[in-house]
Amino acid sequence: MKFLVDAALGGLARRLRFLGLDARLTVLRREALPAAAPDTVLLTANRMLEKADRQDLLVLAAREPAAQLDEVIRRLGLTRRHFRPLSRCVRCNARLQELPREEAAARVPEHIWATQAEFYLCPACGRVYWPGSHIAGISRSLAGVLGEGGEPKAEAPTTRRSL
Ligand SMILES: [Zn+2]
Repeated sequence: MKFLVDAALGGLARRLRFLGLDARLTVLRREALPAAAPDTVLLTANRMLEKADRQDLLVLAAREPAAQLDEVIRRLGLTRRHFRPLSRCVRCNARLQELPREEAAARVPEHIWATQAEFYLCPACGRVYWPGSHIAGISRSLAGVLGEGGEPKAEAPTTRRSL
C-alpha cells in the first residue's frame, strides 16, 4: 500500500515511513487531485476535500500526527503484516539499506555502536538508523500492534515529540 499524503501532514508522513510504508508528500487540492492509482490512498485532513467523492481519499478527523496515524490504521484495518519497520527513511521516504556494523562505527555515537547489532543507511540522505532509534516515539496503540511479536522496541523512553 502506498500513500500520497497532503503536504500539510508532514508528521503523519514521517510516522508512516517509520513503519516502512511508502508515504510521499504532495499538495492535494480539490481541483487538481492526482489520478487514482492501484493500491494508493490519498490522505488529508482538509475537510474541503470531502466533497471530492473519491473512494481512494481518506479525510482524517484527527489533528495530531500520532492520532492521525491511529486513525489511518483503524480506518484501513492495517495490521503488523503491513508494516516493515526499519525499511524506509523517515526523512526522505527512500528505502534503507543494511549497513555493515564495521561501517556504522564512524557514523553513530560510540555507546550506540557498542549496544546495537543492526544498522541501516539511507542512500539518499546518509542518515543511519538502528532499532532503538526507530521505534521510539510511536503512538501507544501502535506500540501495542508492534509489540505482539518481538519487533524491536525502544531502548529508552522517548517522547512522541522527538519525531
Ligand atoms: Zn533519507
